[in-house]
Formats: sequence, structure tokens, C-alpha cells
Amino acid sequence: MRVSMIGAGYVGLVSGACFADFGHEVCCVDKDPAKIEALNRGEIPIFEPGLSELVAKNVREGRLTFTTELPAAVRGAGAVFIAVGTPSRRGDGHADLSYVYQAARDIAAAIDGYTVVVTKSTVPVGTGDEVERIIREARPDADFAVVSNPEFLREGAAIADFKRPDRIVIGTEDERAREVMTEIYRPLYLNQSPVLAMSRRTAELTKYAANAFLATKITFINEIADLCEQVGANVQDVARGIGLDNRIGSKFLHAGPGYGGSCFPKDTLALIKTAQDYEAPVRIVETVAAVNSQRKRAMGRKVIAACGGSVRGKTVAVLGLTFKPNTDDMRDAPSIDIITALQDAGARVKAYDPEGMEAARAVLADVDYARDAYDCARDADALVLVTEWDMFRALDLRRLKAALAAPVVVDLRNVYRPDEMRRHGFTYTSVGRG
Ligand code: NAD
Repeated sequence: MRVSMIGAGYVGLVSGACFADFGHEVCCVDKDPAKIEALNRGEIPIFEPGLSELVAKNVREGRLTFTTELPAAVRGAGAVFIAVGTPSRRGDGHADLSYVYQAARDIAAAIDGYTVVVTKSTVPVGTGDEVERIIREARPDADFAVVSNPEFLREGAAIADFKRPDRIVIGTEDERAREVMTEIYRPLYLNQSPVLAMSRRTAELTKYAANAFLATKITFINEIADLCEQVGANVQDVARGIGLDNRIGSKFLHAGPGYGGSCFPKDTLALIKTAQDYEAPVRIVETVAAVNSQRKRAMGRKVIAACGGSVRGKTVAVLGLTFKPNTDDMRDAPSIDIITALQDAGARVKAYDPEGMEAARAVLADVDYARDAYDCARDADALVLVTEWDMFRALDLRRLKAALAAPVVVDLRNVYRPDEMRRHGFTYTSVGRG
């Protein structure tokens, strides 16, 4: 089938490359000419493991193309996916749907023949109705259906998640559209990925409910970690002790500096706003968002406490900047709040991240970027591990201690063992291991 993907970002590019790999003919459209030029030169604008090879293979085999020309990509396509950004709207926290609606207008002008317009972007309940209205208004003659097909992939494991999803959610009341979606995802039925058919509004809400639940799980264990520190308990043992209960599950029970990234913060906020508008407030999620946003800066205070109560004039080395490992995505990364809190308290910050430094430069001022972890640690008065990249999991502790001016380590991901760190002579602080 001919498929076009509007928006060639983290979701659009991965989805487009994977659909092409299933055998579909895919054209990815982006309004950013620099992104499309890079892709046409064979360069991948983001860091995502395996993506470069997957894109190259499908381009070579003629199933994947890139363009800025939306009309040409949409004409003759059986399905047009909208995978543009839906960031928080400045000021009120609602999802900013301007990119989605612009894409809908652009698609409306170009469709010919029966076309399934699929919203893959995370959008509030009712957005599909509005997309349908926009297209219908512009093209009363058009033969089309609007489907919700939210995406659940995780950055850093996006290809595996897309090709072996826990489930595929398809929201539509249109039988013809359901058949088209079934055809597109047929290769995954062979993997026996469950396909859940539901109404469009239900599908839209399912995505927010999933992210809000995961954010709640993280925030829950983070608060238990704080309590562990006060009562002398170990959060990792608590997490294992509850996680082995099948009703709870062990995933997303890692205490840390608070969730960040391009999805959880904005999606929890958007759900809160939708729920308030419908007078069915989601108070648990409201609390989760408030607790999490305070937590990131509190991690800065944790570092200051580990440095004896003041970092004025001191140098703090930060390892890991991206919101999680295996991505270059800095959107809403906890490192931003932590570093800003340290700078506000008078610290000089050095940092190293294997993939995120270019994006970090755009959002963080006055940070010295290092060549590697040891270069980052050199002459610093404390080292903070913020993002648990594999390369930070087995640092040479002797070398690290020799590089630091003071052997103070704050491990916000509980990567190291407290007894081992103490044996090596570090003053070691972690999360929830009282
Ligand atoms: P992104 O910012 O990486 O990519 C969006 C792309 O869309 C950009 O390249 C932008 O130039 C392009 N674009 C915007 N308007 C356009 C238009 N009218 N025509 C053509 N291109 C246009 O965003 P992302 O991280 O891929 O997220 C996209 C959506 O998917 C969001 O709604 C997000 O919440 C959702 N989502 C993201 C993830 C994730 O891990 N990043 C996971 C699941 C769902």
C-alpha cells in the first residue's frame, strides 16, 4: 500500500521506516527542508539505535522516500498518517494542536480517491472529530475517514517497540477504514501483536491514560524512595518486593530524578486540562504532575547537600543529559532543572553525554562540555550521574576518584552499589537507599 507520513520526527521517521520495512511504499513528508535534505543525503537527523541502517536499507530498496512536497506525497496514498508534534501550549498546558490542524488542511487540499487519514500524534479526545470537520469543510466532495492510531513506542528502543508492540490501538467507527488499517498492520498480526479495535475517542484517551499511568508509577516509587531515605529502608528492595506481584509488575519502578522527555510531562498536563474542561478532574494525575515538577529541582538541592550545603564557586560534573539513555532528545530532560538549580546556587557545571550535547547546547547556557566521563570529572568537586547510559555503568572507579578534586558522587539512577563506592573512598549519595 502507498502510505504517507506527515512529520519525519522521532515517531514519523521510525514509523515510516518500519512500514517501509513491512513492504509498504512510504513517503515521509516534513516541512523542515533541512531535515528532508539531510535524509535525502542519507543522514539521520536524530539518534535512535538501528534507525540509520533501517532507513538506508529501505531507501536502497526503493520503498522509502522523503519530501517537503505534501501534495505529491498524499495524492494516491491509501493512508496518510499525521505524526507532527503536539507540544504543550504556552501558557495553559493544553496540547498545541496547530501543527495537527495545519497538516489536516494541507492533506484536505491534496486527497484524491478514498483516503484514510490516521492521527498517530498524541492528541486530546475529540481531535479526530475536528480533523474530520476541517477536511470536510475544505473538501465537501472528498472520500475519506479519520482514524486514531496512537503510538506507544519508546525512544531508544523505538524500532523494536514498533515492530513488536504490546498492542496496536485502532480507533474508528468506519468499517472501510478498519480494513485499510488491518492491511497496513497485517505483518504484525503474524507476530501476534494484539490489535484493539475501539471508537476513535476511546483510542485518543487510551494513549493519555497509558502515559498518565506510567508517570504515576514512576512518581509513586520516587515518593517511596524519599520515605526510604528517612526511615532507613532500601527502595530497590521495596520495588522488587512489590514488582514481583503480577498485579503491580516490576517495570517503571526505578526511583530516580523524576520523569522527563517529550511525552510524559506534556501528556499528563494535557490530560489534566481535558479532564478539567469536562468537569471530571483527574486528581491523581494532577498530583503526579505537581510532585514530579518539584522533584527535578529538588535533585539539585540533593547535590548541594552532598557538597556540604553549598556549591558556590565549586565545579559540579554532570554525566548524562538526555531524558533517558539511547536518545539525543533533551525535551524536558531532568538534567535541565538540575543543572539550572546548581548554577543558580553558584556552581560551575561541566557535562558529558554521548549523544545529547548538541541538543543540550540549545537549551543550557554556561555549561562546559567534556570529551568523556573522566574529562568531565577532572578537578570537579562532585560528580552527578543523571542519565544511566551504559557507558556510565562500569566506570573505572579508581580513575574517577583520581580525576575528581573531591570524591563526592551523587548517583540519581542507583547504578552503583553503596558499599562498593564507600570502599573506593567516595562520599556516595543515591536515591532511596537510606
Ligand atoms: P518531533 O518534533 O520529533 O517531530 C515532528 C515533526 O513534524 C517535525 O520534524 C516537524 O518539522 C514536522 N511537522 C510539523 N508540522 C508539519 C506539517 N504541517 N507538515 C509536515 N511536517 C510537519 O515529534 P515526535 O517526538 O516525533 O512526536 C510526534 C507526535 O508523536 C507527538 O504528538 C508525540 O506526543 C507523539 N509521540 C511521541 C513519542 C516519542 O517517543 N517521541 C512516542 C509516542 C507518541
